[in-house]
Amino acid sequence: MKIGIMGGSFDPIHHGHLLAAEHAAEAADLDEVWFIPSHAAPHKDQRPRASDEDRLHMVKLAIASNRRFRLLDWEILRGGVSYSIETAEMLRQTYASDEFYWLIGADMVQYLPHWHRIEELCRLLRFIGFARPGTTIDLDELKPEIRDSVQIVQIPLIEISSTEIRRRIAAGRSIRYMVPEPVLEYIEERRLYGS
Ligand code: ATP
Ligand code: MG
Repeated sequence: MKIGIMGGSFDPIHHGHLLAAEHAAEAADLDEVWFIPSHAAPHKDQRPRASDEDRLHMVKLAIASNRRFRLLDWEILRGGVSYSIETAEMLRQTYASDEFYWLIGADMVQYLPHWHRIEELCRLLRFIGFARPGTTIDLDELKPEIRDSVQIVQIPLIEISSTEIRRRIAAGRSIRYMVPEPVLEYIEERRLYGS
């Protein structure tokens, strides 16, 4: 099987993540997309605002209706800094006959040179990159060893970020339609992000 990996803090998961995963999977002919919430993202200096349990639960709610989407809690269980290379090595060992494609938005495409042990990671899997409002993808900026592992697919642009959602909630503004309805209800019920 060809499997896409959607990593992220998902603090909270939103329609930008879901739409990107769906369209990237279609464009690259992937059989499934596995969502892997990070415990602590290497490139972020703060831990997520919501707990590991709440973020896992929101992803579970958000993907429940999609048969091709799965949730993996490996990075949360592993704890510590969530390096993708460690996750990729575990995936390759556990699912030796599957092919993995790491899905990343434009901001992460440009950040690839800083990923931990990136050249080893490029030998383990390929990256599928897609546009995201606010960042331009410039593959020429990447050195060939990295660039050759990246394939770009076209997806509809969605200008939503978790940061903006957290800000809106804290300011008492609406996030309806930015996140799936069950996620909205969960955020309100658990009073996450100062709601
Ligand atoms: P934050 O603002 O907290 O960083 P975020 O919205 O950027 O949250 P992340 O969990 O950091 O979400 O991102 C996980 C992955 O999803 C990254 O590869 C990121 O580029 C991608 N992504 C997030 N939002 C979008 C979007 N609106 N369009 C395309 N890709 C996105
Ligand atoms: Mg982000």
